[in-house]
Amino acid sequence: MTQFNRRVFVLGGIATAGALGWSGNASAALAFPFTLGVASGDPLPDGVVLWTRLAPTPLNGDGQGGMPNQSVDVEWQVATDELFTDVVQSGTVTAYYAGAHSVHVEVHGLQPDYAYYYRFRTGGHLSPVGTTRTAPAFDVVGRDLLMAFTSCAHYEDGYYTVYRRMAEDRPDLVLHLGDYLYEGGKGTDGVRQHLGGEIVSLADYRRRYAQYKTDADLQAAHAAAPWLVVPDDHEVENNYANMTRANNSPVLTAREWEQRRADAYRAYYENMPLRGGAKPNGADILLYRRVRWGGLATFHLLDTRQYRHDQACGDGWRYCPPAGDPARSLPGTTQENWLLDGLGRRHGIWDVIGQQVFFARQVDAGDAGNMDAWDGYPASRDRIQKGWVQRGVRNPVVLTGDVHRAWANNLKIDYTNPGAPVVGTELVTSSVSSGGDGADSTAIPHGAYNPHLKFHSQHRGYVRTKVSQTRMEVDFRVVPKVTTRGAAASTQRSFVIEEGRPGVQNP
Ligand code: FE
Ligand code: CA
Repeated sequence: MTQFNRRVFVLGGIATAGALGWSGNASAALAFPFTLGVASGDPLPDGVVLWTRLAPTPLNGDGQGGMPNQSVDVEWQVATDELFTDVVQSGTVTAYYAGAHSVHVEVHGLQPDYAYYYRFRTGGHLSPVGTTRTAPAFDVVGRDLLMAFTSCAHYEDGYYTVYRRMAEDRPDLVLHLGDYLYEGGKGTDGVRQHLGGEIVSLADYRRRYAQYKTDADLQAAHAAAPWLVVPDDHEVENNYANMTRANNSPVLTAREWEQRRADAYRAYYENMPLRGGAKPNGADILLYRRVRWGGLATFHLLDTRQYRHDQACGDGWRYCPPAGDPARSLPGTTQENWLLDGLGRRHGIWDVIGQQVFFARQVDAGDAGNMDAWDGYPASRDRIQKGWVQRGVRNPVVLTGDVHRAWANNLKIDYTNPGAPVVGTELVTSSVSSGGDGADSTAIPHGAYNPHLKFHSQHRGYVRTKVSQTRMEVDFRVVPKVTTRGAAASTQRSFVIEEGRPGVQNP
């Protein structure tokens, strides 16, 4: 065993890495630090973001994972083969105590539409190996894209079998639409328990991410493919809206709440494979962004929490005419315009809008709906749908999480007219674990009032899509149980969306 020595280590490691490969010559000074796995995200045609965070004892109450209060250099390698005999990019990045020893490497110089392996090393310890890929060149409609998406992974409600099964599909790209973690304190009726009470401080959020990320199934999903991540509410606090909380539990002053929100987003950035553009600036974090997959698809990733008007009549299921005020917006005016501008560019065949809350209208006999979802902001939804129709967007597909149920919905300019044309498609993923084992019934709640809602499932699961120039094939993947480990996944229902024909069809 050699002592960890920065200068010798870096010179020796990087100079010879390509020729000799890396050994696991572990230092006695640092216990194995890669307990949270590795991840990659936000691919470009020439690169991708690589992520890891050092935490030898990840569950420490201070959120620092057992790391000393000093900076540590971390080497990284990208190779075309699993044995790292063909290393094509490599370097060293510094992990800072102030950043909870997370690292975000923005790799460039890679080939477009190409699969790569990556790993890290520090203190003689080797990280697990991740697989990732670059996007196709902007003007190229390449081969078919296998994209899977999911949301809502309450740690106490179930095991992460859904993440494992998603990884086993070997997707090219994974979208996570929020509720990656939950802020609540330790419960008593789950299959496992959160550490501590409701998370409020930076240390709390950091430790909660660490607890979630110690899960082997979650690590497998991150290691399998690049992810595009956007948070929902629970990464901060349930149903919050911009600077307004849904309740005052725990009791916080306005200033304490502002600090909590900032800390939550700081920890989010630290723990996700995001580019530097998403580095928080004070209380704000810029998370809405576009990721282009060549000429095939453009992913418009929305943030529906930071800029929204407050829920109009509270955030439950309500009949609330004031919600229709055209001055109200869910993404906020700036983001709404940014979305419409991006849709209007029609870069790819498919315009995929990755966001959080239920988009299609869903009302009951009394016209009540979910005030936390787009039904609480119908004018905002109207502007977006009409906007894409006016801009000639051929294949808008909205992806949604949040509701812990799977849905397939046809989107319409006029939801009250059954004869009105379908102008888009919404696919809603169920949860990874939130809600527990689920149920068999596929009856559509209030179906008589919402004929554009075509499928509903109460099982846990994810959505798997195969995107080609002519169609998007959609499989609703489900597992029967999450309260025991190891359930098999199966396809409960499949649809296709044909290019140029919005809405779901039977295959
Ligand atoms: Fe959720
Ligand atoms: Ca949510």
